[in-house]
Amino acid sequence: MVRCAMETAKKFEYPENFIKYLGTSGGRFSMIRQLRSTGGLWFRYGGVQGVIDPGPGSLAHICAARPALEIASADVVMLTHKHIDHSTDVNVVIEGMTHGGFDSRGMLVAPDDALRGNDPVVLKYSQKRIPKIKIPEEGGKIELGCGVVVEPVIHLHHGVDCFGYIFRKEGLHEWGIISDSRMMPYFRSRYSACAFISINATFPDRKPRLDHISIAEARELLSKIHPKLAVLTHLGAMLTSGDGAHFLENLDLPETKLLAATDGMTIDLDTLKVYEERVTSQIIEYAER
Ligand SMILES: [Zn+2]
Repeated sequence: MVRCAMETAKKFEYPENFIKYLGTSGGRFSMIRQLRSTGGLWFRYGGVQGVIDPGPGSLAHICAARPALEIASADVVMLTHKHIDHSTDVNVVIEGMTHGGFDSRGMLVAPDDALRGNDPVVLKYSQKRIPKIKIPEEGGKIELGCGVVVEPVIHLHHGVDCFGYIFRKEGLHEWGIISDSRMMPYFRSRYSACAFISINATFPDRKPRLDHISIAEARELLSKIHPKLAVLTHLGAMLTSGDGAHFLENLDLPETKLLAATDGMTIDLDTLKVYEERVTSQIIEYAER
């Protein structure tokens, strides 16, 4: 649900390095019902800020965010893959990052099939607005600026090009996102140095015929690599219904604090503290005129 722009966040400022979940639902039925928002996440890390996976509503949530987030100040827009719950707002956030298309600025990181072929989700119109476009490759590194380096991790996800990303900057915690994917054995070594991992977990239990990670598989992975903090997002229809709430409780592991994301949740990437957004008044009135 889009929050009222008049609401203000009391006594809270974003940490120096953070991520904020603009939306936390994923998959087609969770998305179309909007029981939770969609829209990916915003991050600021090592002097670089931007949006990852701007799905439906992303720009509206950025503009409504309190404290404010400024799409005009974004340095980078990143896609893990082209599926519509991850990409429908990519063209409008690019429009915001490039100041209505008038300033050639910013970077786009997106898989090849999101940019080319018969069905690219990033319009050629939008691609022309951005001076730097990087296509992630397994084994490659992408420099975002200010010394921030991103390492793409190849995923396996229903026939589309899909990547997770690991963010590094000297002197700061390493962190990563695991996007939509079948659980791959090399995730254990690739994400092993992350202090924080955001994992797309769509179902409670493993579904062998689907290229999505379940909560059970995420817990198994985390029990081996034990980051200090991990958060589950991209929660599917079963997990976002009232009946599924219990799957998202009591997730902690012995060495990892594990939470399900909520819309607006903010993670301090330095202290690894978690801040949940609570909207306390939401009254809409209609007056005849
Ligand atoms: Zn997907």
